[in-house]
Amino acid sequence: MSELAYPYEAPASRALFDRAAAVTPGGVNSPVRAFGAVGGTPRFMVSGSGPYLTDADGREYVDLVCSWGPMILGHAHPEVVAAVREAVGRGTSFGTPSEGEVALAEEMTARVAPLERVRLVSSGTEATMSAIRLARGFTRRTKVIKFAGCYHGHVDSLLAAAGSGVATFALPDTPGVTGAQASDTIVLPYNDLDAVHAAFAAHPGEIACVITEAAPGNMGVVPPLPGYNQGLKDACAANGALFVSDEVMTGFRTSRAGWYGVEGVVPDLMTFGKVMGGGFPAAAFGGRADVMEHLAPAGPVYQAGTLSGNPVATAAGLAQLRLLDDAAYARVEAVSASIRAMVGEALGKEGVAHTVQAASTMFSVFFTDRPVRNYEDAKAQESFRYTAFFHSLLSNGVYLPPSSFESWFVSTAHDERALQRVADALPAAARAAAEATA
Ligand SMILES: *Cc1c(COP(=O)(O)O)cnc(C)c1O
Repeated sequence: MSELAYPYEAPASRALFDRAAAVTPGGVNSPVRAFGAVGGTPRFMVSGSGPYLTDADGREYVDLVCSWGPMILGHAHPEVVAAVREAVGRGTSFGTPSEGEVALAEEMTARVAPLERVRLVSSGTEATMSAIRLARGFTRRTKVIKFAGCYHGHVDSLLAAAGSGVATFALPDTPGVTGAQASDTIVLPYNDLDAVHAAFAAHPGEIACVITEAAPGNMGVVPPLPGYNQGLKDACAANGALFVSDEVMTGFRTSRAGWYGVEGVVPDLMTFGKVMGGGFPAAAFGGRADVMEHLAPAGPVYQAGTLSGNPVATAAGLAQLRLLDDAAYARVEAVSASIRAMVGEALGKEGVAHTVQAASTMFSVFFTDRPVRNYEDAKAQESFRYTAFFHSLLSNGVYLPPSSFESWFVSTAHDERALQRVADALPAAARAAAEATA
C-alpha cells in the first residue's frame, strides 16, 4: 500500500513526519512507529488522557496500543503523575543508590516468587542482553536457544527471526550482527518441544540458556500450548542450562505476577520492562539468588548503568504497580474480553476469516481461520486485510498497532464510552477487511 493512498489524512502529523525524516532515520525513533507495514502517515501524538490519545491535528483516538503495554492504567493517571511530580521535585538523577529502587525491587519480588534478586536497568533490551550475559557467565557455556517470532529487544545475538518489528520490515537478519554473534544462537520453532530436545541432544554441554517470551506477543499473540513452558524448564534443568522467561511484555500485565502468575512455571531468570516503568524507562532482570549473585559487584559478571534505578522512573513504576490490585486486573480482563468479542462478532458478520487469540489480557486478531501456534502460522495470515481494517478504524478514531504482528493492549481506563466508540467503528472496519484485496 503506497503512502499516497492516504494523502490528506493528518496534515499536522504529515508536516511533523517530514521534519522528522530530515533529522532522524525514517522519521521515527523505533521502526514500527513509522506505519511501514500499513502505509500512511504515522500520527504524532501530543497528549494522552485515560483511554484516549490526541494527535497533532487535534483528533482523539481510543488507544488500543497503550504505548505497547506500559500504560495499563491509561494515560496520565493522576496518582502516577503525582508520584512523578513529587519525584522530579526532589531531583532527577543522583548517581547513587536511592530508596525508590529498593521499594520497586521489593514490590516486584513480593509479587513474583521466583524473583529472589532483581537488578534494575533502563530498557527491556538491556534486561535480556544482561540476562543472556549472566546465563553465559554462570554456566560458562556459549549457545542460546531462542524461538522464531519471539522478540527480546534489539540484542545482537537475539535478532534472528525476531518477530514484529523485524517481521514487519521483512529483515530476516540485520546487517551489523556478526556471524559469530548469530552462530551462537539456535533458532527453533515456537511451541515445539521435540525441536528443543533435539537441539539439546545435538549440542551437549554447550547451551547456556533457553530464552522465550513467557507468552509471545511479538508475532501477534501466540500463547504457549499447555505444558510447553514447563517442558522448556524441564529440558533446561535436565541439561544444565538456565530457563530465561522474558516477561518484558507480560510482566505485571497478564496478572499481578505476570505470566508466572498465570502458569506458575518457575524460571531461573526473568526479564521485565514496559508496565513496571509506568511509562518511564525502567526495566529489570532477576531470578535465582545464586545466579544473580554472579553479577558485579557481588560476582564477576559485569553489568552497569548510569541511569539504572532512576528516581523518577522508579517512582512512576512503583506508583503504577501499587495501583495494580486484583480489581484493576479484573477490569483490564473485562475490557479485553469485551473488545475480543466485538472484534470477532464484527468480522464474523462480514464473513472474514479470522482468529482472535489471547494470552490473559493481551490479544490480537489474525486474518486466518486456523489457530496460530508459531511464527510460520502467523506469517500465513492475510495481512493485507489488516491494513484495510487498521485504516478504517484509524479514520474513525480507534488506534490499533500499525502491524498485524503485534499485540493489542488495553487499560483500566477503557470505560464504557471508549468501548462504545470501538463498537461503533468496527462494522465499517470489518467491511473494509472483507473487501480488501492483496
Ligand atoms: C518490548 C520487548 C522487549 C524490549 O524492550 P525495550 O524496552 O523495547 O528494549 C523485550 N522483550 C519483549 C518480550 C518485549 O515485548
